[in-house]
Amino acid sequence: MTETAFETVPAVAPVEPRARIGTVVMKFGGTSVADPEKIRRVAARLVGAKRGGSRVVGVLSAMGHHTDELLDLAHQVSPRPKPRELDMLMSVGERVSCALAAMAISDLGQDAISLTGSQAGIVTDTVHGKAKIVEVRARRIHEALDQDRIVLVAGFQGVSTELDITTLGRGGSDTTAVALAAALGADACEIYTDVDGVFTADPRVVPDARKLHAASYEEMLEMAASGAKVLQLRSVEFARNHGVRLHVRSTFTDEDGTWIREEDERMLEKAMISGVTHTLEEAVYTVRETNPADLFEALAGASVNVDTIIQIGSDIVFSAPREDRDETAGVLDGLGAPWGERDDLGKVSIVGAGMKSHPGVAARTFGTLRDIGVEPRFVATSPIKIAFYVGHDDVDRAVKALHDAFDLSSPEAERRHA
Ligand code: ADP
Ligand code: ASP
Ligand code: MG
Repeated sequence: MTETAFETVPAVAPVEPRARIGTVVMKFGGTSVADPEKIRRVAARLVGAKRGGSRVVGVLSAMGHHTDELLDLAHQVSPRPKPRELDMLMSVGERVSCALAAMAISDLGQDAISLTGSQAGIVTDTVHGKAKIVEVRARRIHEALDQDRIVLVAGFQGVSTELDITTLGRGGSDTTAVALAAALGADACEIYTDVDGVFTADPRVVPDARKLHAASYEEMLEMAASGAKVLQLRSVEFARNHGVRLHVRSTFTDEDGTWIREEDERMLEKAMISGVTHTLEEAVYTVRETNPADLFEALAGASVNVDTIIQIGSDIVFSAPREDRDETAGVLDGLGAPWGERDDLGKVSIVGAGMKSHPGVAARTFGTLRDIGVEPRFVATSPIKIAFYVGHDDVDRAVKALHDAFDLSSPEAERRHA
């Protein structure tokens, strides 16, 4: 049984009190800026916040599927593109949307400036493709805000300590936004996306999933780590470590979304489970006759983010993202121990802070799986999560059945206490 381990997050320089007044960071995801009309609407929303009296920083993702298209282009040119050049290429998508939004904002009569991650002072380590932010040097953003401008920062990217362009991993614009909110002492970090908030399950799989009114940082960490891709995991770590309140909401409405913040007793009084998450993006490896210290040191050296780890006799079973497959295989070959890989398993997780004080969650989980004839493999738990692997074909069925079993379609699941 394992606990999900979260990485430490770098310190952000303290902010002068003057800068704390009314700064808001608003991040818009790819679907929200997918075409020229949507970019104009995002521009209008940013201008609205500015006219409402805030100092406004917009963080934008690449338009629609632009990042995927760039990745695909790289692979059409080269079977194994060099990571440095891949980052040069992939970082372009966010620059396109920021420059276009700055143009649209000017047309609305407001001054705006677009900045690359590097120009915005986002300094990272040197790991291409999944760099970590080590420092935010926000001087240029402050200057532009002082000049009464709306600042647009290209998400998902930074400049390394070796002065190369880096990217922060898929979904990394969320982390750009939270890091800026922390560095600027913003009142809130608003994450605008194509759903109304964080739901009790992926609304694409469970149509009657409910929008959560609030979730604790710990719950959101577990949900993000286990497949609720609405927030990148690292952005939630950053928010928790710096006390940044996150508001995940729809780009297309003015409705309140989901607040991610410190745990509050009222969250525990309501539904004990916050959600059922799933992912098909992990591969499960079994390694025989190896020393776990050597294995995990070598994987860490190759920057592979290992998730679940289970020891069964002298075998070690672990999961890692599919996108790290080549690096993982390279490490395992290098160790010389016999190993195997399964890519036909998906992971389903039940997450909820109330689990700590309510017995019977495991009983209900495994009872439900037995009733629908699904066999769980490789179970892992934390104080607020039960996760297990099932065949790909059983994932949706397991998610729906557990969502029902824990009454997550009921109004209580929303945790609304207004
Ligand atoms: P963006 O482009 O705005 O960053 P993402 O595609 O990264 O948006 O994340 C939003 C998507 O996350 C939604 O369209 C939804 O299908 C998916 N998702 C998965 N699990 C959840 C969940 N529990 N709550 C909300 N959305 C979820
Ligand atoms: N454009 C990047 C991606 O598709 C980053 C992001 O959208 O947050 O992963
Ligand atoms: Mg995203």
